[in-house]
Amino acid sequence: MKLANRYSKGVTLHSKSEGDLRYSLRRKVINLIYETNRRLQALGMARLPRIEVRVLKEADYAGMAYRGTNIIHITECAINYQTAKQRLVIWHEIVHGLGWGHVEGCKLMDANPWRLWSNGVEESEVWETFLKYVTEYQQKN
Ligand SMILES: [Zn+2]
Repeated sequence: MKLANRYSKGVTLHSKSEGDLRYSLRRKVINLIYETNRRLQALGMARLPRIEVRVLKEADYAGMAYRGTNIIHITECAINYQTAKQRLVIWHEIVHGLGWGHVEGCKLMDANPWRLWSNGVEESEVWETFLKYVTEYQQKN
């Protein structure tokens, strides 16, 4: 099977022949971005800039993004996480896409946020933290 794209370090994107699976996984991420935009607008905030979503088939991390490019990569595994964890990964990558690096001790933007969530990820807390970054981004842009 020919892969459409190959990344370094053994990371692969879904191939075109796996289009349906890739589409449905990508759709889950895009739906969360739409929902995020609705929630931002309900708060009187602007929508996110356009985010390009790429699905990774396998990687030794849950997601990655090029800082400040609004391009995010989410692994198939992370897309299938339970809701709060899935959102943490996607919002974490979006904040990278908006231009932030890692922030030690931040429950969203720590390099390894899992270590800060010993009692389970709280979606409301992840959302509140995400909002702080988006608010700051929107004030600067
Ligand atoms: Zn990160």
